[in-house]
This record gives sequence, C-alpha cells and structure tokens, in this order.
Amino acid sequence: MEKSFAKVIIDISHEKVDRPFEYKIPASLMGKLAPGMCVNVPFGNGNKLRKAYILELEEIPEFPAPKLKEIASLAEGQNGVEEQLIALAAWIKRTYGSTMIQALKTVLPAKQKISEKKKKTILRLISRDEAVALQAQYIRKHQTAKARVLEELTEQECLPYELVTEKLHVGKATLQSLEKELVLKVVSEDVYRDPVGTLQAKKCEEKVLSDEQKRIISTVLEEYDNGSPGCYLIHGITGSGKTEVYIRLIEQMCRRGRQTIVLIPEIALTYQTLMRFYQHFGNRVSVLNSTLSAGEKYDQIKRARDGDIDIIIGPRSALFTPFPKLGLIIMDEEHESSYKSDAVPRFHARETAQELARMCGASLVLGSATPSLEAYYRAQNGDYRLFELNRRLTGGSLPTVHVVDLRKELKEGNRSVFSRKLQELMKDRLTRGEQIMLFLNRRGYAGFISCRACGLVLKCPHCDVSLSEHKDGKLRCHYCGYEQSMVSKCPECGSPYIMGFKAGTQQIEEQIKIRYPKARVLRMDADTTSTKDSYEEILAAFSEEKADILLGTQMIVKGHDFPKVTLVGVLAADLSPFASDYRAGERTFQLLTQAAGRAGRGKLPGEVVIQTYQPEHYSIAHAAKQDYKGFYEEELLYRELMSYPPVSHMMAFLLQMSNEKKGKIYIEQIASLVKNRFCGHNIVTIGPSSAMIGKINDVYRFVFYIKCGQSEELEKIRECIEQYMEENEMEDCNTSFDFDPCHIY
Ligand code: ADP
Ligand code: ZN
Ligand code: ZN
Repeated sequence: MEKSFAKVIIDISHEKVDRPFEYKIPASLMGKLAPGMCVNVPFGNGNKLRKAYILELEEIPEFPAPKLKEIASLAEGQNGVEEQLIALAAWIKRTYGSTMIQALKTVLPAKQKISEKKKKTILRLISRDEAVALQAQYIRKHQTAKARVLEELTEQECLPYELVTEKLHVGKATLQSLEKELVLKVVSEDVYRDPVGTLQAKKCEEKVLSDEQKRIISTVLEEYDNGSPGCYLIHGITGSGKTEVYIRLIEQMCRRGRQTIVLIPEIALTYQTLMRFYQHFGNRVSVLNSTLSAGEKYDQIKRARDGDIDIIIGPRSALFTPFPKLGLIIMDEEHESSYKSDAVPRFHARETAQELARMCGASLVLGSATPSLEAYYRAQNGDYRLFELNRRLTGGSLPTVHVVDLRKELKEGNRSVFSRKLQELMKDRLTRGEQIMLFLNRRGYAGFISCRACGLVLKCPHCDVSLSEHKDGKLRCHYCGYEQSMVSKCPECGSPYIMGFKAGTQQIEEQIKIRYPKARVLRMDADTTSTKDSYEEILAAFSEEKADILLGTQMIVKGHDFPKVTLVGVLAADLSPFASDYRAGERTFQLLTQAAGRAGRGKLPGEVVIQTYQPEHYSIAHAAKQDYKGFYEEELLYRELMSYPPVSHMMAFLLQMSNEKKGKIYIEQIASLVKNRFCGHNIVTIGPSSAMIGKINDVYRFVFYIKCGQSEELEKIRECIEQYMEENEMEDCNTSFDFDPCHIY
C-alpha cells in the first residue's frame, strides 16, 4: 500500500512536536516527500498557507481520510537553520532508530519562559592586596569556595556572574555572604556594560606556532576555502598543542563570518579550559552545560540564532546549536564514551557531527591522545585526514612505566594491595614531599559481599547486581538505591564467614592510613563527589598540595594538571568482569594511557606502576609502552575477526518487561523472525538472551544482537522488527535499538 498521508508539524518548537497534523499527499507530490522536508499546507479556518515540516509518511491516517486537507506544495529554499536541524533529526531517526518525535525533541531546544533577567557582574570592593590577604585567610579556614572567588578577583576587578557560578561552581549563598562582608558587589548590566569584554584585556601574547600546528591549520583552512571542507583527526598527547590549534582555527572562522561548535566531554568543562576560550573570544563565546536551567539554555541558543555569539562550547547536545553559518565543528577527546547518548535516540556525537558538517559545508576537527578505533580506522581508510602531534610543548618527559605481575607478588608472599615496587616508590615520594595519584578501576573491584563457605553473593532483590558495602555499615544497590543493613550470617547456609571483598576505594584508603599514617589522603569516588561542588573542591585541594595522595576511580585521570605528581599507581589494571564487552580492551588502553600520562607533567620526571594479573594482555602491554599504533593494530585484528565495529556494524535490540515469561517469548519471536527473514544477508546474530544485568527495578531485560557490514541492512532489519511488533500488538513491553553500541547490555 502506498503512503499517501503525512503527519506534519506547523510550529517547529520542542513543545509542539507532540501535536502533529495530518494531511493528504496530492498525486503530484507522491513519492517525492520524506521526513524532515518542508512543505506548504492550508491551515486553520481561512486555509492560509503555512510552512510545515514532515514528520512521517503513513498508509492509513489516524483521522478519517475524507476530512483531511491536501498538502499544497513543496516549500522553496530548504536550507535555513530549522530545515537543517529537522533534516538532521530525520537522519538521526533513520540511523539510530527512534520516532521522528523523539529525534526532534533531541534536536530542538525546549522553549522556556525566561524572566527578562539582566546580565550580572561581580565587582571587587576591596583593594587587590586586601583580596590576597583575605584569600589566604579563607584557605586557612577551609572556605575553599570563597577562596576561589577571591583568587579570581585578585586578577580581575570584575567578573561575569555566570562565570563565577557556573565555572567556579560557587553557589549563590557564598556570593551573598561575601556581599554581606562587603568584599564584593553583584551589579546588573545597566551599571556595568561589558562584563566579559574586560577579560580580553588579559589576552596573552601570541605564541609562535610549531610547524606541525601550522600545517594542520593551513590544511584545514585551505580545503575549507576551496569549498571542500574535510574531516580531520589530530592524534596528540595532552599538552601537545591541540587546543591552541582549535583556537586559531576558530579565529580564522570568525574572520570568515562563520561560527564554530566546540564539543568537550562534560567532565572536561573545567574552569581552566573555558578561561582560555573566554580570554580569546570574550563575549563572542558561550558555554552550555548541564548546570544551566532550561531557560538559560534556551537563552544561549537564541543568542546563537541571532548572531550574538560565534562560538559555543558544550557537551554533545551543543551540536544542535542553531548557528546560521556553521563553519567548523571541533570535538575534543573524541574517544570519550559520553559522546554517545544513553537515551533514545542513542546517537553518537561524532557521526552526527560528521553528518551535520556535511549538510552545512563545515569542517570537522577531532582531537584525542587515544583516538577511538572508529576515528583511527577512518583515518587509515582516508575518510579522515590524520595529523600527529608528538611533542609535549609544556616540557616534561614521558614517564618510566613499571608493570608488576600481581600473581608473582602473591606467590612471593605479598598479600597487600600494594606491590613491593609501588610501596618502595610511595615511600620515596612521601619522604621527598612529592605527590602521588592512585587509581582504582572500581567497577571491577567493588566491595561486594560474598559467603566464603557457600560462595553466595548478596544481590539487590530488585536488580540483578551485587550490593556493595559502605562505611556506614549499610549495603547498597548502585542501580536503584535499595539499602539494607549488613548481615552477620549467610542467608543461604548460615555461615558467619560472609564479608566484603575488600578492595574498594574506602578500604584502600584505610590501608594507606595504616601503612603511611602521616600521609594526607584525598579520596575521590562516587561517594565523595555526590554534591555539586565536591569534584572541583577535591581537585583544587590536591592542586594546592593539601594532600600527598589522591586516591580515586576513573574520575581522577581526567582534568587538571598536577605538576607535583611524580608517581602514578594503577592498583588494578585488569579488565573488569565486563570483559565480554568488545570495547573493554580499548577502554583499558585509554584509561591506562591517560593515567600514566598524569605523571611527570611538571619539571620533575615521573614514574608509573601498573599492577595487573594479566601483564601479557595486549592492551596493558601497549599502554605501558605508550604505543597507540601497536595497540590499534592488535585491537583492529580482533574486531575484524569478530566482525565488531568499526570493521562491521552492530545493532542491539533491547526489550524490557516486568512479565518475565512473556518477555522471553517476545524476544525469541523477534530473533527467529530476523534469523529467518534475513538469512543469507550476511548477518551474524548473538542471542537472544537475558541482558548482562538481567533485571533492574523488577523489570526484566532481554537482548538480541545483529552484526552486519552494511548499516542499511540493519536499518531494514529495524524496520522489519518495528512492523512485526506493531502487527502483533506487542505494545506492553518497552523496546529500543542501539546502533553500534558502546557497551553491551
Ligand atoms: P592540548 O590541547 O593538546 O592539551 P594545549 O593547546 O593546551 O595542548 O597546549 C599545551 C600547552 O602548551 C599550553 O600551555 C599552551 O599554551 C602551550 N602551547 C601550545 N602551543 C604552543 C606553541 N606553539 N608554543 C608554545 N607554547 C604552546
Ligand atoms: Zn553461605
Ligand atoms: Zn537495585
């Protein structure tokens, strides 16, 4: 049957996409329309022609067909910002699998009433010297938030209000308290005109670019100016001058009247990074981050659309900033998993950026010290142009890496979590007054509770995950928050030998305290960073040398530079129990390389100790040698052998349902449908099976994977599944797709 009806939206705003209108497609337009296209339709009682956007095409309308009006014509000149975003939404829907409405909601900003609030500025009321003295006083009193404000205010007499609240993470209460103390004053823009402008005065002298940096910039611009903008990957260690290249490219784009989107993982949106952009571009740059309210976000987006700013910096959602003349998209730390959305539509910012760049004729520049397999593979295939930056411009040499085999340690009688090598080096650093970072891959070593007699592992009654023990004696589920008190006897066999597997960050902190009673330790994990400011506060305290050892999970390997750190210990480098995840090797390599790169950033040389049960594993061995290429080649071989992305494509189909039996029947029906219908189409399937976490919040989870070299084939399979579910009225379950998933389910 032919699709002769269309659902359209008249008003393209986030709020209205739920209320589409149906129209008949006239014979003249039959077969010419697709979701995202712009048409003219008669609307309202007067049948005035209005622009509308096609959401989807249908065979059977929901409304009685005879009552429907006809689409009048295709609209002219389909290349405004709105059209582009809608076309991008259609691409997202097609590529990642979602409804057009879900895709549109992802792409269009939520409109919120914002009170016409004036821009605010913070003015220093005391002298510079007084500010210095006061800052020291706050530090002594451990009032770190106040100290941070003062530190900035010694450099600048005035600061934009939002810079202080968002980037310094200083709360309103702190500012009010400082206002009461007559240290500063918050004023509105009427009083002080150009708040961010003064920051430009601080602009440092231009650096002389290295030849490598120059080559990147000239290539990107040349190709842009020739009308053939490309995709580029800069492979360069931290400190090799990538950000400097970004800034120069943005400058050049501004000169050409073009705008730039800069994507940065949320965790790297640090004050130091942002300050560099502010110093260069003053009030032409704006930042989107998760601490902004919907109203504030909308405000930023409006400024972009109105041409008030040229540059936006933010996490993956910043990609949808409606710039009228987008010239450049920069994606720093391109390999970060936070670039993949974990909600439907599960789009990846890298691929979506590439599509957006193609649509707008913009250049795309990716940067990473440890590129994703995807990006490097494309660079090898010539889809991206590869640039290498090999020198650290800030000085400092690459650290010496020692790999310690934990099996051998145990055999030789060392039962401690610290190998003898690490103990030796820690002692040395503590006596010399240098700093140490200890890194624990917590996901693999959570403090779960097991019975030594029967092997029972205590699990959450609502989720299929183990409970972990906390210092307060409670057992908690990290998925649903369920908690119970610690048990004294095994609920299964009654044995009293039921206890925690002692290797979480808390336990290690205790062991450090026993072994090195004088050492000052800071711990950073999900428990110590639950409040908004705590993350920055811990890092600030460590950089102010208020501690000798920073112990933590993944979180500590990113962000700040600590020149005094000369020893990094990776306590357990091994792949987590999620090793069946095809990206585990890649993640391990990235984490270890980043962790190792934290040592020796300053003038003092650094050392790294990697403790592992699998010293021969290729991701650990190559990370120890800081050999990206070697790792890439071995990892790619594995992906080729197993038909995993980026060599092939993979689609996960996830089905969630509280009725376990029915869910199982459904997923089996769907799996056999795909296996039968697409047999001979070069597909490989895995499952169906229960997901790795088989239950969350009493909802059962099932999963089925399909691998195929052609993404179009996977699109067809997805449509086939969707249609089958509709025909068989499988509406009582929750399903979703994940194209080229970043983790397994
Ligand atoms: P990345 O983004 O790769 O970590 P950055 O661009 O931040 O590297 O550069 C690292 C440091 O080197 C910064 O302090 C930066 O100011 C400095 N830098 C960058 N390019 C040059 C250059 N051409 N000459 C001197 N210093 C530079
Ligand atoms: Zn037991
Ligand atoms: Zn739970």
